[in-house]
Amino acid sequence: MILPTRPELAQEKPYGAPQLDVPVCLNVNENPYDPSPELVQQIASEVAKAAAQLNRYPDRDFTALRTDLAAYLAEESGVQLDITQLWAANGSNEVMLHILQAFAGPGRTVASFLPSYSMYPEYARDVHSTWVAGQRNADFSLNFVEVQRVLAGANPAVILLASPNNPTGTALPFDQLRQVLELAIQHGPQLDVGNGEVEKTAALVVVDEAYAEFRRDGVPSALELLAEYPNLVVTRTMSKAFGAAGLRLGYMAASPEIVDQIRIVRLPYHLSAVTQAAARGALAQRAELSKQVAQIRADRDQLAESLRALGWEVAESDANFVMFGHLEDRHQVWQGLLDRGVLIREVGPDGWLRVSIGTPEENAAFLTALQEVTK
Ligand SMILES: *Cc1c(COP(=O)(O)O)cnc(C)c1O
Repeated sequence: MILPTRPELAQEKPYGAPQLDVPVCLNVNENPYDPSPELVQQIASEVAKAAAQLNRYPDRDFTALRTDLAAYLAEESGVQLDITQLWAANGSNEVMLHILQAFAGPGRTVASFLPSYSMYPEYARDVHSTWVAGQRNADFSLNFVEVQRVLAGANPAVILLASPNNPTGTALPFDQLRQVLELAIQHGPQLDVGNGEVEKTAALVVVDEAYAEFRRDGVPSALELLAEYPNLVVTRTMSKAFGAAGLRLGYMAASPEIVDQIRIVRLPYHLSAVTQAAARGALAQRAELSKQVAQIRADRDQLAESLRALGWEVAESDANFVMFGHLEDRHQVWQGLLDRGVLIREVGPDGWLRVSIGTPEENAAFLTALQEVTK
């Protein structure tokens, strides 16, 4: 019997970083600190309340959670948003899929600039859109000759930009984001409005701020430009700074028109009552979590400095990881570290490796192992 598999998936493999059981796991940019007993207690009590109502479908508009997210974003970035500008799903991975289901899809193009997050082409594939990628400069900043070329050539419906970028750690400067947004207004796909007439659209610019909380002082969030650009979407997640990768809660901020389009394509009740309750419990403990973020930022700067002192090149990082090089044989270094119980990520341009910021003890173990492997 031959199953009706899709020919375009024939060579594809499921995405996923290796999940190996080693003493020092610095490969997927998680928060290294286990939730505190207070945080566990708060989540457990919110989930217990939700459990008492599990015979009912959850609030499909997750109004209470959106209210808490708006309060959090106002605190974190100084931008006050209405809950009609917010959307959430099971991880920012699902948020991204919702965006593409609503605005990309068959016959349309999704664009990005590499190196960047390796999931982006997979999202495009999953909604049957064409994927187009331009190249970044050698320092991983955007190259505007290339941006112009890609946008004018492809008229993408959606442009995906991670800032801070993964795997490089580099943030997109504000003036450059404005430049992309202005170009996007000129270069969206044509929209068939009937009677053989077409209208020019603006491309959506999605700034993936999965790592925004780790940005250095003075680096703004793209949230600040939402009021100015109705074609801007900013995505965030509780997986990294919130230390809640296991929770699966991602969210986005955009114009209410964009959120309304997404409500059309989401599955009914996609966000379980348990997820909503657990996320609200974690958000209530955000003061404690922001202390951890401050610690991780300081440890990031220190690890970058230590790597430079050892002679390595380190990309400027506003995230909870750093990318370093240049390695003659990066696989051999990655394997040597693993043999010493330190798992990092072999990702990004050849000659570079990415290491997540762990506890100070884990960072020290990584540095020691690296010196042994490369001496
Ligand atoms: C980790 C990461 C995410 C987060 O994905 P979740 O589905 O929210 O866990 C999103 N974008 C980038 C670039 C990431 O590295």
